[in-house]
Parts: sequence; structure tokens; C-alpha cells
Amino acid sequence: MSLLERSSRATRREVLQGMATIGAATLLGTIPRQLQAFPEEPAKPPRRLLDVHLHINHFDRSIEDTIRHMDATGTTRAFVLPLETGEGGVTLRSETVLHAFHKYPDRVIPFCQTDIRKPDVLERIKAYHLLGCRGIGEQKEHLPLNDKRVEAVIALCDELNWPITIHFQDGPNGYNQGLAEHLETYLKRYQRVRIIGHAQTFWANISADPPADNLYPTGPVKPGGLLDRLLGDYPNLYADMSAGSGYNALTRDEEYTVGLIMRHPKQFLFGSDCPCRDGRGENFNGTCYSTQLQALLTRIIKDEAVLDDVYYNNAERALLGSA
Ligand SMILES: [Zn+2]
Ligand SMILES: [Zn+2]
Repeated sequence: MSLLERSSRATRREVLQGMATIGAATLLGTIPRQLQAFPEEPAKPPRRLLDVHLHINHFDRSIEDTIRHMDATGTTRAFVLPLETGEGGVTLRSETVLHAFHKYPDRVIPFCQTDIRKPDVLERIKAYHLLGCRGIGEQKEHLPLNDKRVEAVIALCDELNWPITIHFQDGPNGYNQGLAEHLETYLKRYQRVRIIGHAQTFWANISADPPADNLYPTGPVKPGGLLDRLLGDYPNLYADMSAGSGYNALTRDEEYTVGLIMRHPKQFLFGSDCPCRDGRGENFNGTCYSTQLQALLTRIIKDEAVLDDVYYNNAERALLGSA
């Protein structure tokens, strides 16, 4: 359990005890001693947290287990991302995400995704739009980034005023390969869609020298990386900090990370992509990507307004298109 979680649990317990005491005191018509001793300053409300990268059936996780993960990690709402072709090993249908949304409308923000090799893909996405979906993602199919079918869904998001979450992974068995060559073209051509960058190749470009043969480079970051430049030039690009790829990049060089976030404070998005059920990594070797990233960010970012942006407000703007 992280320090953060432990302290928020303690606070919750104290609040509950306090409420019980007030209830008993009201019955007895007396003022409880704890109330007299309470400081004038009201307790700070818990920070709102929007996880921009969550799936449901990671390791066969149910909808309820996914909500349990959100409760355990202090997550207010989440972008829940289907993966209909399952090319990365997890298959999640857009219908399941819509089902979760109907069960938990205050917690689930439904995205859609479907096989972009099928000729009716744009019609299907327009139908998901009518059914309440709010964006496309996770776009993770074995097609290069400059494939016309990838461009067609980006263009549709532009038309619908939607975000799209893209898994960038170069290499022969990768997804949307060719970020360095093609991403800028799309950012320039389609300025309404919010492109949310995720995964190994996106994060390898935190440094100016991303190696071609290593998806998880370590060691100090060489300033002047493509990510820094694109975030500076294109306000429609957002960085999804989820999963091992995000955490690995952000912990390579913490001083550089803080500088990068402070240069682009409106474009970083908290996300977990966590497959665990309980916020403690019970079924994931003791690691929870959500609590792990919260502990890092809370430790290194000292500006409370920036933390509020990264944890919630930026995701809301990426969703609504109010950049
Ligand atoms: Zn994912
Ligand atoms: Zn977790």
C-alpha cells in the first residue's frame, strides 16, 4: 500500500468516526469533545482523479472489479478504452464499455474502437457516437501510422470534435509505426482532434536519441527530444503517462521530467492502464500502475495547480476540446 493510499484511508476512517460521534452527540444533545478541538480550517476535499487509460477485461477483470480498482485508487472517473481486434492480447468490445457506462454513468467515460480494416468502420464509429461514446481508443492495430485507414479515423475524430488515444510502438510487430516521420503531419492537418500519445515509442522520444532496438530505454534523458518539441508546437497533442512505458520514461531523469511537465502543464494526462483489481497489484506482482504513478507525481510536482491539471482538468479539456 502506498503512503498516499494509507493516508487517504486514515482520513476517510477519521471522517467516518467523526460522523458517528456527531450522530451520537446529536442524540444525547451534547457537543462532542472532538468537535470543540477541531481546527478552524476545514479538511481539504480529496483531489479529483481522472484516469485516461483503463480497460475492463485485463486478466479477465469484470466491470465490478474495474470499479473496485477505481475506488481503491481514488479514481473519480476514467476513459474506458475498448480494443476490439485484441492485437495486443486484450480484447474488449465497445459494447462492453457501453454496458459499463450504462451501469456506472458517473464513473465511466466510454470510448470506442473497432477494426479499421473493415470497410464499414466509419459508419460503425458514427453509430458508437450516437450511443454515447466520447472518443476513439485505444487505437492499437498492426498498421503503420501513415496507413490511409489510420488517417481516416483521425479525420473522423477531427470531424466529431473527439480525442483519439493511439498506441505508438515501432518495430516489425508494432502498432502505428513511424511516429517520428508522420505524427507531425497529422497534428498539422487535423487541428481539432486531440491526439493522445501512449506507449513505448511515444515515450522513447522523451529523449533526443531514441534507440531503434530498445523500446524501454533507461538512463539520463538527452534534452531536445521530439516529444518536447511537438508538445510545444501543437496544443492538440496530449501525453498519456500510463503503463510501464510512461513510468519508465518519467523516472529516467526526474529533474528533466519536472521541467518537461512545467513547460507543457496543460498537456500531460494521468493514466494507469493498470490491470490489477484492488489498487495493490494483487494479481499483478504487487504493482499497481495507478498508485505507483500517483506517488511519483505527488512527490515531484510541487505546484498544486499543475497537479490538479495533470490529475483531472487536462483530461476534461482533451475530452471536450476546449484547449
Ligand atoms: Zn492500454
Ligand atoms: Zn492497479
